[in-house]
Amino acid sequence: MGLELRSGSATDVGNVRPNNQDDLLVLPGVLFAVADGMGGHAAGEVASRQTVETLRSSYGDERTIEAFRDAIRWANRAVWRRGIDEPEHAGMGTTLTAVAVLDDGQLAVANIGDSRTYLLREGTLSQLTSDHSFVQEAVRSGQLTREQAESHPRRSQLTRAMGIGDDVEADIEVLAPRDGDRLLLCSDGLWDELPDEAITSILQRLRDPDEAAAELVRQAKEAGGRDNVTVVVVDVLDADEERQGLAASRALAAEGDEPTVAAPAVALDRDGDGPEDLGAPPADEASPLLERSSALGADADLVADTAAPRLVTWRVVLFLLVLAAIGVAAFVVFRGGSSPWRVKLSGNNVAIFKGDELRTPTPLQANQLDPKEQVRLRRGVALDTEAEARRYVDGLARQVASTMPTATSTTGPPTTPAPTTASTAAPPPPGGP
Ligand code: MG
Repeated sequence: MGLELRSGSATDVGNVRPNNQDDLLVLPGVLFAVADGMGGHAAGEVASRQTVETLRSSYGDERTIEAFRDAIRWANRAVWRRGIDEPEHAGMGTTLTAVAVLDDGQLAVANIGDSRTYLLREGTLSQLTSDHSFVQEAVRSGQLTREQAESHPRRSQLTRAMGIGDDVEADIEVLAPRDGDRLLLCSDGLWDELPDEAITSILQRLRDPDEAAAELVRQAKEAGGRDNVTVVVVDVLDADEERQGLAASRALAAEGDEPTVAAPAVALDRDGDGPEDLGAPPADEASPLLERSSALGADADLVADTAAPRLVTWRVVLFLLVLAAIGVAAFVVFRGGSSPWRVKLSGNNVAIFKGDELRTPTPLQANQLDPKEQVRLRRGVALDTEAEARRYVDGLARQVASTMPTATSTTGPPTTPAPTTASTAAPPPPGGP
């Protein structure tokens, strides 16, 4: 029996705060996250957004705990650097709780700060993450009771957060998912307003993950909404039952008018590079759209106060596919039409291509580079001449050399030695692609 994931999400500014410093990430079948930013003058928003965007671009090619941990470190470093480079964002930080799908189909649950991941299994809600907060650590060590913690003046004070230092250690637990499991990722705006019983009741009552997410947010606001509130709900489903259900709904739709499309489920048991496609577009292309539509959908629900399910018609899907095709074609013409040379990734290594032909591999590895650079290189950087391509690679090598830590640390970000000069053609390191 294969397992699949289906997710829903919602976020809201709440009733009191002027802006929403929470952010969320839904990369179907790959990665789910909630980040709760902190810092004045919109810095919290910058920190949480930077974190989810770096995770989005850094995790997925290799799906191991080590790769997940590195992606979190990259995200931490990206926030920390911006806090240093941009004075208006000095001192910003964010929490992070994230669930990554591993190559073996297990789930890795990570936490830094006091956002939480819960598991609802067979009717019982359990908290999978431990808060890094002053009061929760005092509760764990027996210095405070749970009741004292709930009203303690220092209850929002964190003991660990992203972006505060140049490195951070995430707590990571591995979970073997079961059919029927429901995971809940949320910011403290949810768990601080709603007791566990209320959360459990909503998760049990509403089967659609988007509806459950929207209802959790709605009730958190009704209970006070004193903070931003953000929720991601992830369901683990039996793939065979899902296929039968989809086939049945398609057959029914074929008899009626406009067919409706259920939110795509993505298989956990993967072969090869990408998630098993069950009618959904590839995760990388699909995710921004899915995330945005989920968030907008949740807001629409709150405004309209209606439980009507969101329906996506085939016309809308077709329209989006045509738009995407035009976008890709325009990008290819604009970026690559007249530039035969290209610097891009070959496996995990930076390489120079002429057209599609690999000309010069280099020992520079993607995970040594700034996350933004990694994104750029995944697309490919078009250049007019080979000399320009070599200069570009030399610049990357200098960049890597300048950010190398002075001492090797077992807990630091990836520390593969930088090449002395990347323009010297060299094969990828042993074990590389
Ligand atoms: Mg919060």
